[in-house]
Amino acid sequence: MTDNTQKQAKAQKLVGVKGMNDILPPESARWEWLETQVRALMARYAYRNVRLPIVEPTALFVRGLGEVTDIVEKEMYSFEDRLNGEQLTLRPEGTAGLVRAVVEHNLLYEGGKRLYYMGPMFRHERPQRGRYRQFHQIGAEVLGFGGPEVDAELILLAQDLWRVLGLQDVRLELNSLGQPEERRAHRAALIAHFEQHADVLDEDARRRLHSNPLRILDTKNPAMAPVVESAPKLLDFLGEASLAHFAAVKAILDANGVTYRINPRLVRGMDYYNLTVFEFITERLGSQGTICGGGRYDYLVEQVGGKPAPAVGWALGVERVLELIQEQGQALATPVPDVYAIVPDVAALPVAMRTLQSLRVAGVSAQMHAGSGEGMGSMKSQFKKADDSGAAHALIFGADELTRCVVTVKALRDGQGAQRAERLDAVGQWAQTLQSS
Ligand code: ATP
Ligand code: MG
Repeated sequence: MTDNTQKQAKAQKLVGVKGMNDILPPESARWEWLETQVRALMARYAYRNVRLPIVEPTALFVRGLGEVTDIVEKEMYSFEDRLNGEQLTLRPEGTAGLVRAVVEHNLLYEGGKRLYYMGPMFRHERPQRGRYRQFHQIGAEVLGFGGPEVDAELILLAQDLWRVLGLQDVRLELNSLGQPEERRAHRAALIAHFEQHADVLDEDARRRLHSNPLRILDTKNPAMAPVVESAPKLLDFLGEASLAHFAAVKAILDANGVTYRINPRLVRGMDYYNLTVFEFITERLGSQGTICGGGRYDYLVEQVGGKPAPAVGWALGVERVLELIQEQGQALATPVPDVYAIVPDVAALPVAMRTLQSLRVAGVSAQMHAGSGEGMGSMKSQFKKADDSGAAHALIFGADELTRCVVTVKALRDGQGAQRAERLDAVGQWAQTLQSS
């Protein structure tokens, strides 16, 4: 090959898919912290973890979420598996897959279940702050229990999470969508109302007027706000049982000092909801202010082919919650190692790395200095790396030390410069003195 063809052969730089983000250090520390808080909280409410596939049959979402919804109409990553012709979709949300799994494995056989999940979701939307094509949700779902106490429990769980995470200015909006037969009466009134204002309906709304008029209430088009505002309220069409369920949820929230606002136009983006629906909203993130949404979905289990069972749940947007935390100026706790190993000569590597292994077994976080492949680098540059790592101590494995069977432990922060020699054959005895947490 000539020089020229070699240059041409250099691979072109590839970049990630638009709207799909890399989550890298130091920001990833915030993600880990949030996940740790969530796991601990879920344990306190006795919710158990599920891990589900990212790809599901397309039919699950079309049937589950509803054909005339934003997600199914225009946001799904659907494709045909080239190898066997199956129609598949990258999950746009977690509830449908979870219900599919619960039915498939007959999980409700011995009673109700409280479950949670965390993971990536995919929607082909226009990327902007708080709106991505791959984003992450944490969801909590309760299946097999029909009473208002689980609706309230889920809301209290979410509130508790905001407390643990230190979120401020998150408000709760609440509504009831009643039952299908109550929605039918409301639907007729809604169509009549929108027909009267056909001139202000946008294209989406006109298309949905007869297929899914409730969806029009979920519009993000500000020009339609007045006609949505004046639309007949579903709450006025609810019967006694639905109202009693709603009142019971509110009574539990009241008893717990949870403040909320009834929003009669809150409908949520999927068709599977009934009775209680809710959203947690902040004003601090601009128009992508809904950080969490959920509600009851008592008919989804049978829609997916299971024996009828009530269910309720919510999902929060991890990116939006983290953006809110950042917006509030909460400091990011960057992880640092306890010690950094300085190795002047490659000859010391076996002993140095054996010592680090013993320290790690004892619970000390230890970062090894790594060389260029041609040597370990100057002491000066190694000390600079040690300092940059944030470690509290440097361990110096010099030839001098090794002949005496010791390592020098040098303080890099508190009591800077103080140093002592520790025996290499007694790591267990001094390891604890290096451990920060
Ligand atoms: P929005 O009204 O903002 O489009 P949604 O009603 O479509 O939200 P849900 O399907 O209820 O959202 O999902 C629950 C949460 O997931 C949302 O409240 C939001 O925090 C988050 N979320 C939804 N879509 C995205 C996205 N494309 N990027 C980032 N987060 C998202
Ligand atoms: Mg949406």
